Amino acid sequence: MPVSHKHITSQAELVIIGTGMAGIGLARALRRQGDQRSITLVSADSGDDYSKPLLSTGFAKDLSADTLAQRNAAVLGEELNAHVVIHTHVSALDVDNRTVLLDGGKTLGYETLVLATGAEPRVPFRIASSLASRFFTINDLDDYRRFRTALGQGPSRVAVIGAGLVGCEFANDLHAGKHHVSLIAPEGSLLPRLLPAPLGNALGDAFNEAGINLHLGRSIDSIVLSNSESIELRLDNGDTVSADFILMATGLVPRSALAEAAGLSVAPSGIVVDRQLRTSHPNIYALGDVACVDGVNAMYVQPLQASAKALAATLSGTPTPVSFGAWPVVVKTPLLPVVAYPPITTPERWRIEGEGGDISALAENKDGRLIGFALTGGCVRRKVELSRVAPVLLG
Ligand SMILES: Cc1cc2nc3c(=O)[nH]c(=O)nc-3n(C[C@H](O)[C@H](O)[C@H](O)COP(=O)(O)OP(=O)(O)OC[C@H]3O[C@@H](n4cnc5c(N)ncnc54)[C@H](O)[C@@H]3O)c2cc1C
Repeated sequence: MPVSHKHITSQAELVIIGTGMAGIGLARALRRQGDQRSITLVSADSGDDYSKPLLSTGFAKDLSADTLAQRNAAVLGEELNAHVVIHTHVSALDVDNRTVLLDGGKTLGYETLVLATGAEPRVPFRIASSLASRFFTINDLDDYRRFRTALGQGPSRVAVIGAGLVGCEFANDLHAGKHHVSLIAPEGSLLPRLLPAPLGNALGDAFNEAGINLHLGRSIDSIVLSNSESIELRLDNGDTVSADFILMATGLVPRSALAEAAGLSVAPSGIVVDRQLRTSHPNIYALGDVACVDGVNAMYVQPLQASAKALAATLSGTPTPVSFGAWPVVVKTPLLPVVAYPPITTPERWRIEGEGGDISALAENKDGRLIGFALTGGCVRRKVELSRVAPVLLG
């Protein structure tokens, strides 16, 4: 089936909004089990099929955006026997008439609708227009392409704002790509939502030793352009960080506005769905970073892959509740390997053992049961053993 860019058919049995790993993963899972229904995927972006986790490994390996794209929308459409409508924004859902409204005024009818619209970067402060061309977030392949183009060939000074997974991975990757990296965050240690402080500090030591400048426990008072066109970030302790570019990595917010405007049930952590990925409206489902499944929005690959498989079975006539299993997060910081399976309730205690960069931390509840873990350095080899005994979140 040809890929449609502008010539959009007006009806499909299944419409999927989003061509991230969730949307494409669902279409692929359906075709794999022999489902023949007509499918249209609509994407605001280029529709390239790529692995988002690889974006934060591309500078070390000097990979272009085109290299990271495994297949373009045309090849994807052929493979999935589907229409892939690209660079097209869905502006509204008409749930009573089962149509989606596309920018430009066209409509697309469906029997079943799946929302796989992902999440977008949270930017907690306004950036002056004079700095806009030097200010980046990276949440898709197009963002990565723009940032690589801006950095050019020579080493640049990059101020990464944020100490979470995306901030730490890009700090490590940009450093490996020979850029000069400063990392600024209000928290006192790295990966604060994944690691107890001693392990976050171990990663901080590895970053420091490698030459990444850490400014932890600091907030930014002002960002100005100097006369020499250098960006000056003034911190609350009076320090100044000079940079050529700013990379913001201050968290993601589910893109649930379409669903909310259409009257679907939405929570701060995403579109509310049950274990069969059903929204509050019949014939509309959601999965991936936008979906809050039975109270959990995981925002990682393993849960969205499990969701795609379960939803494909449900849509093909075998109602299948999704199970997430135990999904430890492997953080891509080669300066110090990290694996984390953070507990969802506050642990009674962390049992922390090890020295230097090789540390294991076991989170226990008041009965002494393991409810999560974090591992650094050589201890990451305990991942499989601990995952087997860790509790399953959505079992
Ligand atoms: C740098 C980075 C590294 C990561 N590393 C890891 C890792 O190591 N391990 C891990 O498990 N997870 C990792 N993650 C998280 C993981 O990549 C995401 O959970 C996953 O890719 C989300 O996929 P998605 O399909 O739900 O959303 P997205 O990939 O965000 O896709 C959303 C799609 O919806 C489209 N869309 C949105 N709104 C509209 C609209 N109104 N109209 C039309 N189209 C629309 C977009 O264009 C896009 O195609 C990482 C994330 C980042 C940013």
